[in-house]
Amino acid sequence: MDYVYGPGKNHLFVPGPVNIPEPVIRAMNRNNEDYRSPAIPAMTKTLLEDVKKIFKTTTGTPFMIPTTGTGAWESALTNTLSPGDRIVSFLIGQFSLLWIDQQQRLKFNVDVVESEWGQGANLDILAEKLAADHSHTIKAICIVHNETATGVTNNLATVRKLLDHYSHPALLLVDGVSSICALDFRMDEWGVDVALTGSQKALSLPTGIGIVCASPKALEASKSAKSVRVFFDWNDYLKFYKMGTFWPYTPSIQLLYGLRAALDLIFEEGLDNVIARHSRLGTATRLAVEAWGLKNCTQKEEWYSDTVTAVLVPPYIDSAEIVKRAWKRYNLSLGLGLNKVAGKVFRIGHLGNLNELQLLGCLAGVEMILKDVGYPVKLGSGVAAACAYLQNNIPMITSRV
Ligand code: PLP
Repeated sequence: MDYVYGPGKNHLFVPGPVNIPEPVIRAMNRNNEDYRSPAIPAMTKTLLEDVKKIFKTTTGTPFMIPTTGTGAWESALTNTLSPGDRIVSFLIGQFSLLWIDQQQRLKFNVDVVESEWGQGANLDILAEKLAADHSHTIKAICIVHNETATGVTNNLATVRKLLDHYSHPALLLVDGVSSICALDFRMDEWGVDVALTGSQKALSLPTGIGIVCASPKALEASKSAKSVRVFFDWNDYLKFYKMGTFWPYTPSIQLLYGLRAALDLIFEEGLDNVIARHSRLGTATRLAVEAWGLKNCTQKEEWYSDTVTAVLVPPYIDSAEIVKRAWKRYNLSLGLGLNKVAGKVFRIGHLGNLNELQLLGCLAGVEMILKDVGYPVKLGSGVAAACAYLQNNIPMITSRV
């Protein structure tokens, strides 16, 4: 029974955890199994091959860890770095802030490059730091690809270009929690050394698998990295990979079947089509925001995120009230503004297994709520702007043509 029942489906538009598609729910509805039987290693082997596709890597080594995005961060850091190592890390919102806090608590020497919330990582400062670092004291660059708190997507291709331009050997560690499998992400092409994501975001699974993918250079670095790690030690995984049993400890059987089903759906749609769908969802949302006369928290078009839009509200409105009303009156779940932007923004998550008509329901709900809280919105204005764009851009469903 629901803890607090509401008729119909909850319209889940927080930027994670996201909707789980029915075939995935059904695939997970099963008993436990012996993970040492031949069945689970056989499935694990194909999963390890297939998750590489969502990172766009052929050379990376993936680890599917029973953890969340936060654990995936820790796995990336502790396997590649030693306490005291200098890392350059970009603070642009709540999730980069939390990652930096973890980096500091793990005793790295964190060189924080801060931007106003709503802006992307300041890559001019990165260029200055790389240019000045003749003795290569910077061991890693840590960057959140998509800052979920502000709806800002950073340009990773430029980060790679800068590292190459200065022939700098620093590792590139990327949080792709709200980007991988939804935004254009190219681990090999962009020379990302560790990329990571969490199952509850674009993969549309329950929370519980942190997927970390390591480049050959990152694996090499792990041999000399001195950070203490036990649960997250890649070596333990590699030992079991070699033996062909794959698991150093008990995996969630149900989540593995869920991951299999989730990847099958993604490949059936086609990863590039999935990314294009997110681009449509992002564009439609931004058109609606513009039609409402509201501003995007993201300050420049080059940083617009296709997985989450943070909408700035006028100063006389508390955005938390919008989120509260959405849930209480319309069975719609929107994302709260976090930390520095609390009360100032509400977030529309548009990622994962989601289609355009679902998004229109959310946009209609937001319009009614805006009116409820005293914002002079013309009902239908955002929906109309989104529809006008979508009607011209939605392709045929791949499997139905
Ligand atoms: N990184 C980003 C970009 C996120 O959006 C989140 C959570 O929303 C995290 C990391 C932390 O992930 P988790 O809550 O799964 O630990």
